[in-house]
Formats: sequence, structure tokens, C-alpha cells
Amino acid sequence: MDTVIVLLNRDLRVHDHPALAAACAEARRVVPLFVLDPSVPAGRRSGFLAESLADLRRSLRERGGDLVVRRGDPVAETVRLAREITGGADGGSTGVVEAVHVSADVSALARRRERRLAEECERHRMGFRAFPGVTVVPPGAVTPSGGGDHYRVFTPYWRAWQTHSRREVLPAPARVTLPEGLDPGVPPPGHPHRPHELFRGGETVARRRMRQWLKYCVADYAAGHDDLAGNRTSKFSPYLRFGCLSPLELASLAEDGDDFVRQLCWRDFFHQVTMAFPAINRADYRPRGLTWNDDAEALRAWKEGRTGLPIVDAGMRQLLEEGWMHNRARLLTSWFLVKRLRVDWRAGADHFFGLLLDGDVANNYGNWQWVAGTGNDTRPNRTVNPVRQARRFDPDGEYVRRYVPELRNVPPKTLHEPWRLPSGVRGYPPPLVSPA
Ligand SMILES: Cc1cc2nc3c(=O)[nH]c(=O)nc-3n(C[C@H](O)[C@H](O)[C@H](O)COP(=O)(O)OP(=O)(O)OC[C@H]3O[C@@H](n4cnc5c(N)ncnc54)[C@H](O)[C@@H]3O)c2cc1C
Repeated sequence: MDTVIVLLNRDLRVHDHPALAAACAEARRVVPLFVLDPSVPAGRRSGFLAESLADLRRSLRERGGDLVVRRGDPVAETVRLAREITGGADGGSTGVVEAVHVSADVSALARRRERRLAEECERHRMGFRAFPGVTVVPPGAVTPSGGGDHYRVFTPYWRAWQTHSRREVLPAPARVTLPEGLDPGVPPPGHPHRPHELFRGGETVARRRMRQWLKYCVADYAAGHDDLAGNRTSKFSPYLRFGCLSPLELASLAEDGDDFVRQLCWRDFFHQVTMAFPAINRADYRPRGLTWNDDAEALRAWKEGRTGLPIVDAGMRQLLEEGWMHNRARLLTSWFLVKRLRVDWRAGADHFFGLLLDGDVANNYGNWQWVAGTGNDTRPNRTVNPVRQARRFDPDGEYVRRYVPELRNVPPKTLHEPWRLPSGVRGYPPPLVSPA
């Protein structure tokens, strides 16, 4: 083949990238393309995205290629670029674009884009191929033996997922050759949303952290993943969100960490649910006729981390500060909003989605619906006692004190029990509701 365009989206890496690897193996020239789509602003994620793109450009340049960046509608820009290359900048051809590759994704938006791109490719007589790479096991690859297009319950999915055959982890291409004379375009500036120090974007940082995690930390995962103050989870979620890490490579290397690999399976689980139910971010997956309180004041207090329930406020303030939140705190804060304040899960999920560096449709809305009891939980009426959980997972109150400075001097014994907080802790609100 002469030239292939690889349209990148949530796969910002060179290692284990099936769409890129196939292009490099099959074509003389390869154009890795990223299109910044103004209709899908990255918001708080823009700094992380900018750093990831800059890092990818460095890696591709080291291999003789480049990252080509354009702005606009990804489908229109891909076709425009293909015609520019095939027609040549000054009328003479610099190559012939014969195919476009993408990594298949699951959200309604991504799938609409893929369908439009496939149609446009056909119209312009180019091939179109969608490759795996966003999940460990492609969504839809394992289906229940009793029928149905996806698993609705996690445990049987986990069993089937573990024994399902996997493709090989691919090396990074040794060389990427661009058509001559192509304007690479300008990547986006990082400002104003530079990510928190904990989360510098890009594959290089991600791979360094992956090696360290696998060497020193994964063995401790089962014991430490609920330790709120210890912060002993991998914090790979933004890297997986943007594809700076390959989930398949991570799962393959984490042989000793069954509990950790199980979390990657949760990620795959929600992706296959989203593939089957693309309205996951709007409609109840399992409608149960629930009614919600339209309580703007309570929602605002929750968003600002001022509910008067310390463990909830700490989680919400971690989100505001870092663009990330510990999983246990995500569970408690989301539970508190939908089950205690009875505010619609969509309001909470949209807030998370706007702020999380790892915010993605499948995991965010899938988990929110799980908590709300409209999703894949087999016990939708499960109750959670946030005070008991706070005592258990933040026994010394260190997590709360880290994010709620007003409570820094409150002794651990009373910290998690808002009704026992000394009256007049300056600046800290009284509880909005009783915690359970
Ligand atoms: C209400 C709510 C909203 C959430 N929104 C998101 C989101 O937008 N994006 C997101 O990636 N995760 C989301 N999660 C799942 C989970 O909280 C995060 O993936 C995890 O906290 C990220 O931290 P980590 O990378 O240190 O995870 P680790 O514990 O180290 O796990 C490793 C990886 O496994 C995956 N994973 C772990 N737990 C889950 C889970 N419950 N569901 C799906 N995948 C999981 C993630 O990719 C994670 O990076 C949400 C959970 C809840 C309860």
C-alpha cells in the first residue's frame, strides 16, 4: 500500500497500537493524525491531552515520522488531508492515501464518527479499518452462552474474560515514514488546564510509572486499594483514558496482581455494556421508575464539598483540586448524592465527567448507574453507611484532614461523626442531612 492515515483519538501511544502497527507494516507512508474537535472540548482534560500529544509527537519524530495535528470535524479533516496528500500541495501527488485506520471505540459519539468516516472513505475509494486496542478484550468478543449481546453482570463476565484468548502485545514501530512536505500542524497549548503534578500526561511518563508500579506496588494492591489516605492504587486511569497505556499490555504484565487485573476487567465490562447500550450517559440502563429531588442547593453544596459530611466533602474537594478521586471516595460521594440526597445520577455523573482527568463515558456513567441502582448492580438497593466506611477506610482521618483544612485540628475520633464535631469549627458547614 502507498499511504495510510491513522486517525488517533483515545490511543495516544506508539506501543501496542494495532492500528498504527498494521499501517507501518503494510504501507510505505503513514500519517498519524489527531484532530482537535471544537465541538468536543477537552475542558479540564485539555492540559493532560496537550502533554500526551506533545509526547506522542516526540516519539513519532524519534522514529522518523511526526504527529499531524488539525482542527475541525475529524471526519472532514481526515478526508481533506487524504485529498491534500493524494492531490499534492502544488498539484503533484506526494502519495496516494489508500486507507484510514482507527482504534474502535464504544461511546455513541465515537461510533457515529466511525460510521461517518467509513462512509466517507467508501465515497472517496479509500479502505477503512477499525482495530482493537482501547480495551483488553474487544467489546462483544465474549458474550453469554445463554444468549444476549453482552454481559449484564460482572462476575460471569470476569470468568469468561479470564479464559478468553488474547491478541499478542505489539512492539512500537521501528520507523514511521511520512509523505514528504506535509505540514504537521500545531499541537494545542497546555494552558489553562495544566494537570496536577500527580498526573503529567503522555506515554513516556505512563510507561515509567507502569514499570515502577509492576515492580514495587502491584503486590500490595489487594491490601491497600481501599486505603484512602495511603493512596495506594495505580492512578493509571487518565493514562488508560487517553490510551497512553495499553490495557492489554498492562494486564499481560500484571501477572501477579489478580485483584488489580480484575479492575481492568471492570473497565472492559463497562465498555461492553456501553457498546450494547450507547445511551448509558442519559437513560436508565434498568429503568426502575425512580424519582429524584430537584434540589439545586444540595447539589451545589455537594459539588463544592460543603455538605457537612467530612468524608464526602474530602472526596469532592480532591476532585476539584486534582481532577481525580480515590475509588472508595467516588463510591461514597456518588452514593451520598443519589441515595441520601436523592438527586438524579445524571447531575452527579455530568459533574464528575466534566472534572475527572479519567472521565470517560463507559466507566463514569456505568459506575454512576451501578451506584444509583439503575445499572449493573445485582443488588440495586444496597445501602452504604458513609460514617462506618470513613472509620474503616480513613481510620486516622488523614484523608479528610488533607482535603478539608477547616478540620485539620479535629481529633480523629470525632472527625467522621459530623454530629460530634465541636460546634464552631470555623468555616465548616453543619450537616445537610443525617449521614445514613
Ligand atoms: C461514581 C464513579 C465514577 C467513576 N468514573 C470513572 C471514570 O470516569 N473513568 C474511570 O476510568 N474510572 C471511573 N471510575 C472507576 C474507578 O473509580 C477509577 O477507575 C479508579 O478510581 C481510578 O484509579 P486508579 O487508576 O488508581 O485505579 P486502580 O484501582 O489502580 O485500577 C486500575 C484501573 O482499573 C480500572 N478500574 C478500576 N476500578 C474500576 C471501576 N470501578 N470501573 C471501571 N474501571 C475501573 C481503571 O482503568 C483503573 O485505572 C468511577 C467509579 C465510580 C464509583
